[in-house]
Amino acid sequence: MIVEKHIKNYTFAKLKILDKKMRDSYKYKGLRARLVEVLRQKGINQEPVLNAMLKIPRHLFMAAGFEERAYQDNAFPIAAGQTISQPYTVAFQTSLLNIKPGDKVLEIGTGSGYQAAVIAELGAKLYTLERQKELFKSAQVILKELGYFPYCYFKDGYEGLPTYGPFDKILVTAGAPEMPASLANQLKIGGILVAPIGPTDVQEMIKLTRLSETEFESKNYGAFSFVPMLTGKK
Ligand code: SAH
Repeated sequence: MIVEKHIKNYTFAKLKILDKKMRDSYKYKGLRARLVEVLRQKGINQEPVLNAMLKIPRHLFMAAGFEERAYQDNAFPIAAGQTISQPYTVAFQTSLLNIKPGDKVLEIGTGSGYQAAVIAELGAKLYTLERQKELFKSAQVILKELGYFPYCYFKDGYEGLPTYGPFDKILVTAGAPEMPASLANQLKIGGILVAPIGPTDVQEMIKLTRLSETEFESKNYGAFSFVPMLTGKK
């Protein structure tokens, strides 16, 4: 009896550790529902995007010690001096892309992997690039754990993935000084590229639609602030 009890307690303690790290909880589910309401109030109205964000446990993508703040509508630091994007920004960029199941999507800046999970949850076939090794590795672990299997590459986003293109949608999640032409050229005709373009502190959210082989339409959706899209080897 005593031994049995001991084993039970041991298993329970072990489960609690796993629990803390991996499992969702009613508390987090509740906070997540509240966050989705905040996003609605801020003007996000695409139900598939809101549903994806209602489902995905953002706290699992946060750096250690930040889990409790996962359902605040803020960006937070992650490894390698980078950030997990603000939920509103994730929702806004994803909405501009108008992702449909089966879309072939390229993301630049995997970072925490949270935005990648949202795109994968929408049923897209996702390719995502990251130039920080640590994040490239950690994002894959958590995405796999949650049942998402995007193609992840440790690679400079400025090059895109010409051999796998053209893409229906391209999303840049770091601020680029100018629209990267190499990426625009990897869009299908009718495809959409969303990227924050501008200097280091503040960028303009640009939606570029490819109208033909040579014509693109550009629309500006106002100011946002991202970590910079870096060039070179660092
Ligand atoms: N989508 C991420 C946002 C991370 S912040 C998320 O949901 O968490 C932007 C990311 O872009 C950082 O991880 C940064 O390392 C990466 N990045 C910056 N320049 C890059 C480049 N040239 N190629 C690929 N990734 C880049």
